[in-house]
Amino acid sequence: MSDWEDECNEDGAAGAIIQEPATKSAPTEWKSPCDRRQRENIVFAVRAATGFGASREWRADRSAEVINRRGGGDGRPFPTSANRGGPGRRTFGVEKSGSSPPVTIAVENASVGRIIGRGGAKIRELEDSTGARIKINKGGYEGEVVIFGSSAAQQRAKEMIEDLVADGRSQFHSGPGRGGDCGRGGDGGVGNCSVWSAAELQAANATPARLSIDWNTIRENKEKYEELKWKDLPPMKKTFYTEAESVSMLRAEEVSEWRKENNNIFVDDLKEEGAKRPIPNPCRTFLEAFELYPEVMENIERVGFVKPTPIQSQAWPVLLSGEDLIAIAQTGTGKTLAYLLPGFIHMDGQPVPRAECGGPGMLVLTPTRELALQIESECNKYRYKGYKSICIYGGGDRRDQINLVKGGVDIVIATPGRLNDLQMNELINLHSITYLVLDEADRMLDMGFEPQIMKILLDIRPDRQTVMTSATWPSGVRRLARSYLKNPMMVYVGTLDLAAVNTVQQTVLIVHEDEKKSYVFDFIRNMLPQDKVIIFVGKKLVADDLSSDMCLQGLAVQSLHGDREQCDREEALKDFKESRVRILVATDLASRGLDVHDITHVFNFDFPRNIEEYVHRVGRTGRAGRSGAAVTLVTRENWRMAPELIHILERAGQEVPEELVLMAERYQMHKREKDMCNPRGGQGGGGGGGWRRDGGGRGGRDRGQNWGF
Ligand code: ADP
Ligand code: MG
Repeated sequence: MSDWEDECNEDGAAGAIIQEPATKSAPTEWKSPCDRRQRENIVFAVRAATGFGASREWRADRSAEVINRRGGGDGRPFPTSANRGGPGRRTFGVEKSGSSPPVTIAVENASVGRIIGRGGAKIRELEDSTGARIKINKGGYEGEVVIFGSSAAQQRAKEMIEDLVADGRSQFHSGPGRGGDCGRGGDGGVGNCSVWSAAELQAANATPARLSIDWNTIRENKEKYEELKWKDLPPMKKTFYTEAESVSMLRAEEVSEWRKENNNIFVDDLKEEGAKRPIPNPCRTFLEAFELYPEVMENIERVGFVKPTPIQSQAWPVLLSGEDLIAIAQTGTGKTLAYLLPGFIHMDGQPVPRAECGGPGMLVLTPTRELALQIESECNKYRYKGYKSICIYGGGDRRDQINLVKGGVDIVIATPGRLNDLQMNELINLHSITYLVLDEADRMLDMGFEPQIMKILLDIRPDRQTVMTSATWPSGVRRLARSYLKNPMMVYVGTLDLAAVNTVQQTVLIVHEDEKKSYVFDFIRNMLPQDKVIIFVGKKLVADDLSSDMCLQGLAVQSLHGDREQCDREEALKDFKESRVRILVATDLASRGLDVHDITHVFNFDFPRNIEEYVHRVGRTGRAGRSGAAVTLVTRENWRMAPELIHILERAGQEVPEELVLMAERYQMHKREKDMCNPRGGQGGGGGGGWRRDGGGRGGRDRGQNWGF
């Protein structure tokens, strides 16, 4: 759904919205989709009030009535009060003799239905009891009631109508049953209900049934249901942080200096209402964060880490304070530990002991099986309180995974598809989860997991603590964050400032498509024994093709892509990690999060589909302070990426080939020409829906510019 649609929905009529099929009369005067939506809502409101757009039964009655009227009984095009007959019906001839000039009163369209009444009953009653004749004209926003007859009759009718309208206003949203169809006869032309023209009536007959949805009631019911659903939840605790003295003592300038020195870390409170909360100072050592948790400290000492990474320093105090967190940082910056350790403490600190929770306490959703396995192994490294973790992912043995769940588990690491499958089949209890991680949210969205995530989250208690990690901050991720996190804090580490890949020497070669293979083989021939390369390709087929070519040439190579069996993928990764092969040909499936420390080279055989992906790929090397190199082949087809690539290269202090500059210029010129031909095209709708005002930029590459902070 595009952003404008979101906005329209949010701003749309608060009352009942009735879906209406497109009518034959094209809405040419509707200037924008929003205009159109607003107008539809207005039309709906009027029709709801007048009984239009109600049920199929109504339509059947109405058709009959229209036909009757057409037939007229007396040969007139529309029935009159007189020819409709009925006991006690009066004619207006008598009143006409002493009539005064007509009196007109304006009424909201929403009140028109009340005046008309079901089947025209109210208007007839008004006429009968006052002696006036009443005609209703439909307007754009307001209707007009014209009262004919003697001044006394007019006065009586006017008062009664005003009472009726005032009465109705207070009950306007009182639900179905109000209003009625405009079935009143008139006085031979003018008096028939003029709210709807004959053409409109015909169109109404021709169109299929309209669906009337009372969103207010649905929302109310949803809230009631939610309340019921979560009514008996056990208590939950979220705050576990006591700021160390050395942290409290930091002066604001010291904090700001530290943030600048640590990859230009940026922290913000995204709370939208009320006063902003103070942003916690960073914990520059492990002890500052975990002094009160000796078991965590033991683990850290055991794995031998020296100091927290910048994202950890800043994420831990936020998470231990019980706040939701969005952590935006390049892959390889230690995000896993940033959420895992506070997660352990959170689970351990719950008032209800783990064993009595009846299900897992922590859920980590992650886009791929590889990442799930990697997180699991990271989780197992720390052995906290004997917590048991399991991995649930598509491609793995479903029955085994179900048995593991049944055996009791504390931490579930899952890809959304398979977890949703178990959830739908009631094979896993998600109600016990109090700590939720959406890991690599951007990647999960790219892979189309949003619907599954949405369904999974329906079963997780709303007062949970939620962490979201992402390498980029595009509008989709912002939307996800806004929907599923509550007043989060955000820690942003200069992700796409190439902080993590500044250590990577980047070479860009402009080549022809058919030269690519010889370039890659040249590269391989020149590899040193200790080199390890990941070769990125765009398609699974290319991965197979290239790796078999290499095999045929006697090279030890593995390939990694989504069409390979899970066990083959795991083996490929293991071979590469353990250096049994030093060449891995992979699609972007392998571009994020996979943690292989000693990759010396990244070779971009095909240019990635966007610049963020380029950064992620390049970030596969140069990890943990090592240096690395990236070679990227660029063809004419990639010209639209040239300007962004130049930007990245420049910011990372890399050489920019002249040919790439020329390519970028040609592309810019082409784009300008295209924009001139089609001035409204290519603007892409602006990507609204951002949390803050922002240009809808793709990845928060330049946060000052894109985020408007
Ligand atoms: P990300 O999720 O940001 O891509 P990971 O959590 O996978 O990064 O971490 C990358 C690697 O860095 C892992 O092998 C992890 O064990 C290691 N690591 C995490 N924290 C630290 C630290 N404080 N010091 C050194 N290495 C760390
Ligand atoms: Mg990660």
